[in-house]
Amino acid sequence: MSVTVRVPAKVNVQLAVGGARPDGFHELANVFLAVGLYDEVTATESTALEVVVEGRDADRVPADSSNLAARAATALAHRLGREPTVRLRLVKDIPVAGGMAGGSADAAGALLACDALWGAGLSRTELLGICAELGSDVPFSLVGGAALGRGRGERLTTLEVGGPLHWVFAVADGGLSTPEVYRECDRLRDASGQGAGVADVPEPQASPALLAALASGDAPALAGLLDNDLQPAALSLRPSLRRTLETGREAGALAGLVSGSGPTCAFLVADAEAGRTVAAALESSGHCRTARHTLSPAEGARLLTAPSR
Ligand code: ATP
Repeated sequence: MSVTVRVPAKVNVQLAVGGARPDGFHELANVFLAVGLYDEVTATESTALEVVVEGRDADRVPADSSNLAARAATALAHRLGREPTVRLRLVKDIPVAGGMAGGSADAAGALLACDALWGAGLSRTELLGICAELGSDVPFSLVGGAALGRGRGERLTTLEVGGPLHWVFAVADGGLSTPEVYRECDRLRDASGQGAGVADVPEPQASPALLAALASGDAPALAGLLDNDLQPAALSLRPSLRRTLETGREAGALAGLVSGSGPTCAFLVADAEAGRTVAAALESSGHCRTARHTLSPAEGARLLTAPSR
């Protein structure tokens, strides 16, 4: 028996990062938007937990119990009091370590797929609870659309979202480690004299104007408000991203920013034609590996197939 789930990537249209908490995490106001790049997770009954990874950069994804999809299956099995005897096949289209929550997407996908495969029928609230234990971005991957994440990003409020909005994603060679980017953010704040602790950094707040632009799908208004507090840290670790951002803006993007912890750069464009122009300019510039044009919003993790034998 097999179940296949499709799960979207995300871009953070606003990522406001507060000070480092004593537990090492940062308080966030994280405005997530799901976009139309997808991983697929197929769960098949097996005699043991197995992970198979396919697609671009599969070799950079662990095919063992440390894979986030495997951890999700194990967490659900534990909850159900059973063994995680499942084969998880991941077909990756979301850039690996790209700031687009690919691992989180696979975790949410595996959870939904195993829930269906094992006939568990957990409620959405129960599934979201397991997602939050697995990682800060995992609940959003389940929900999709647009949402504001507070706390580490895992306490979600669904947001109104208009669209479609057109995006181009410039996929970089190699990834950036999310913890390293947060450490660099702290280092830059310390070096500037501001300090990096909770008492030094203002409490992060979502911008009401940005939420209004997102709700109405107003691309020009949203373009002026896109904001990522991790961008200076990502640029400090990967200075070549400045050229990527310049290239997309010069080719006519309404705005460009680093997606989450990077190194993928996200460009908001006016329409499909601008999407094609900006993607072509980025691809021919040599400042990224590939450029992908897609739309938002996208729906969250969704069963593509009913459980089948
Ligand atoms: P985020 O945007 O949530 O910070 P990211 O998109 O930058 O994350 P991921 O693609 O989630 O990064 O991968 C981060 C690391 O997690 C990878 O380098 C990889 O070693 C590990 N990993 C574990 N499971 C997976 C998975 N299923 N897919 C991708 N990476 C995984």
